[in-house]
Amino acid sequence: MTSRVGFGYDSHTFGARRPLRLAGVEIPHESGLTGHSDGDALAHAVTDALLGAAALGDIGQLFPDTDPRWQGADSLALLADVRQRVRAAGLRIVNVDATVITQRPKLAPHVPTMRARLAETLGIALAQVSVKAKTNEGMDAVGRGEGLQVFAVAALAGE
Ligand code: MG
Repeated sequence: MTSRVGFGYDSHTFGARRPLRLAGVEIPHESGLTGHSDGDALAHAVTDALLGAAALGDIGQLFPDTDPRWQGADSLALLADVRQRVRAAGLRIVNVDATVITQRPKLAPHVPTMRARLAETLGIALAQVSVKAKTNEGMDAVGRGEGLQVFAVAALAGE
C-alpha cells in the first residue's frame, strides 16, 4: 500500500457583493470573497491538497479562471469532480485537515457544518475531515480583514 500527502493553499480578498461561502456554507458577513468561481477558498485549498497528493496538477489547470464555464461555479462541484479523479487514479482519501485564517467573521460556530459539507462531498466520514479556524492576531492584510487564507493537507492511500 502506498500513502501520499498533499498540500493546498488559497487566498481571496473580501469585497464581493455576494454571500461569504466556505465549504459551501453561507456565513453571514458584510461581503463575500472575490474570485472567478464562487470564491470558496476552503473548498479550493482542499481541492488543491487532494490534487497535490495524487500529483494530478492543480485547480487552476483543471478549472481555469479564463474559462466562462467556471464563472460563479459551485466550488463543491469542482471538489466532487476531483474526488472522482482521485478515485480513478486508484487512490482513496484517508483524511483532510484545513486551517482557515480570517480576522472576521467568527467561524467557530460554522465549523461543524463546514466539516459535514466537505465529508459529504468527498464521500468520507466526519472523523476524516478537520476544519480549524483562527485569526491572524491583527497582523498584515488578513489581520486588517482585507482577505482570508486557507491552508490544507490531505492524505491518500493506494494499492
Ligand atoms: Mg481560489
